[in-house]
Amino acid sequence: MNKTLAIDLDSVLADTMKIWTLIYSNIHNTTITKDDIKAWDIRKILPISAQEISEIFIYVWIHRWKEIPPTEPDLAYIIRQLHKKGYRISILTKRERETVPYVANWLDYYDIFSDDLIFIYDATPKAMYKFDILVDDAPINLIDVVSPKVGILFNQPWNLEFDWPIRVNSISSIENTL
Ligand SMILES: [Mg+2]
Repeated sequence: MNKTLAIDLDSVLADTMKIWTLIYSNIHNTTITKDDIKAWDIRKILPISAQEISEIFIYVWIHRWKEIPPTEPDLAYIIRQLHKKGYRISILTKRERETVPYVANWLDYYDIFSDDLIFIYDATPKAMYKFDILVDDAPINLIDVVSPKVGILFNQPWNLEFDWPIRVNSISSIENTL
């Protein structure tokens, strides 16, 4: 049986916060970048409500999705190589329903392959889904992952303080970690 590699979308495949911070900066006439977001709760960094965080996020996906860069060059090739090496690629993403068509567009546009694509709308923990390995930038998604499942934290400025044994900087470095 091939191992299923579940991969989060936002900030693991799609570098969403690069455009999120750009839009935030335009609205508030400031120059915040992704590297400034050094806490999981953005409200600890910026004077913003939870509602505006979500509104900008949805706006980015609906209106600026094409500009969201993949997290590394050649991501399409890297994912295909993982698939060829026998990993079943499952993209596992929790999100607002209205962004779903644009996520599909983004994956198409950047030619990102997957064996399945799972959208989570409710509060079911990602750890409940079927996978062998989960790559995610959100500590909260990893804390429930228990052996024999493996959780890999994808490094981002907002998760560097979280104590987790397995971390990667890129999808291309996952294989060396396993
Ligand atoms: Mg994420």
